[in-house]
Amino acid sequence: MTIYTGPVFDMARRQFAVIADHLGIPERERDWLLLPKRSMTVSCPVRRDDGEVSVFEGYRVQHHLALGPTKGGTRFSASLDIGETAALAMWMSWKCALAGLPYGGAKGGVAVDPNALSRRELEGVSRRYMQEMIPFVGPQIDVMAPDMGTNEQVMAWFMDTYSMYRGSAVPEIVTGKPVELGGTLGRREATGRGVAFLVARAMERMKIAPRGATAIVQGYGNVGSVTARAMSGRGLRIIGIGDHTAAYYDPKGLDLDAIDRHVAKSGVLGGYSAQGLIEPDLLLTMPCDVLAPCAVERVITHANADKIKCRILAEGANGPTTPGADLILDQRKGELFIIPDILCNAGGVIVSYFEWVQDLQQYYWGESEVTDKLNLALDRAFAAVEARAARDNLSNRTAAMAIGVEKVRKAMQLRGLFP
Ligand code: NAD
Repeated sequence: MTIYTGPVFDMARRQFAVIADHLGIPERERDWLLLPKRSMTVSCPVRRDDGEVSVFEGYRVQHHLALGPTKGGTRFSASLDIGETAALAMWMSWKCALAGLPYGGAKGGVAVDPNALSRRELEGVSRRYMQEMIPFVGPQIDVMAPDMGTNEQVMAWFMDTYSMYRGSAVPEIVTGKPVELGGTLGRREATGRGVAFLVARAMERMKIAPRGATAIVQGYGNVGSVTARAMSGRGLRIIGIGDHTAAYYDPKGLDLDAIDRHVAKSGVLGGYSAQGLIEPDLLLTMPCDVLAPCAVERVITHANADKIKCRILAEGANGPTTPGADLILDQRKGELFIIPDILCNAGGVIVSYFEWVQDLQQYYWGESEVTDKLNLALDRAFAAVEARAARDNLSNRTAAMAIGVEKVRKAMQLRGLFP
């Protein structure tokens, strides 16, 4: 019995079982690695603009603490639950280990639709959530970051709430905060730039020239918009984009400047244009060289996997591909290059780690230093996955997760089981 249930946790558990079988991890050891070390659920009462009080449930899950503090984003989403939070925390563990960062994985968030809150209410939810989490987090315990539905401003409120409690500024309690508060240059762009950097590596392997190549991006928030922009900067033509309000497709290429102007005003893609609108579900199955799902989990499933026509699948989002879809996609090995989520979007946590290091040292780097170090870390992880996949004839996902799980397992074994 476990409190961690639901489709996303089931998916993370199934993925782990594949890796555990591959690594020959005995049954008796599996729950030790799989189940989160600890988690906290809180109620966040918040006064609404109309004077009423709403109570939102918040969570934080720390998956393992064997390698250092835990690290992970904070998601504000109406459908969030403890199972999804735990799955995301587990993926963070494998991701941090794969990238060689001294962290365990964590994730947290509030079951609230941030689009339904005024700015004052959003600040109320953010501050109340952080306030409730104070006994559970800390710069050497668990360091938060943004994720879906949160941004730099929310991180600034988190940092302020924690710092007010401590009585002095503690920038190292969160990453992804504004540069003016001790955030690092390049963090906002890190995940999307990392996706585009790895896409370029995959294109080299697939012998696809960037000029003339086409890309489709699902999700136009932090990760999706920067991924689209960074791929465009590398010469790719962005022919499709979509968010939860609308999807657009134009084989001649979309005008990202015009789209960004619209999004800056309205916050969403919906209403951008009457031309080029397509069914959001179709976006994923249109022909293109690179498909980058950068929104939510479980969008590529056994129901649409055989219709995916891209040559490179770059998983900017966490968990966009289900294990059922993997079985179908694995049959296209050789003609389809998958950059699995824990590698593809690792740029975010890598630069978060750089931010934490800079905050602890109170010594700040220039943007080119951040980008150079990011690219080096991504290259190392990419090469490790490639080598492992080739050596053991594995899919990239299995290779990436095997490296991550192995490192966490080794650390836990070396530390031993406390009586
Ligand atoms: P965000 O809130 O900035 O943007 C999310 C985007 O997804 C929005 O454009 C939203 O409209 C869209 N979206 C939501 N539901 C959708 C749906 N059903 N169909 C199509 N689009 C939908 O979030 P983000 O920070 O860009 O995160 C996106 C994904 O990337 C998440 O899976 C997150 O866990 C992952 N990720 C984020 C970071 C980071 O640094 N922010 C790092 C690693 C991974």
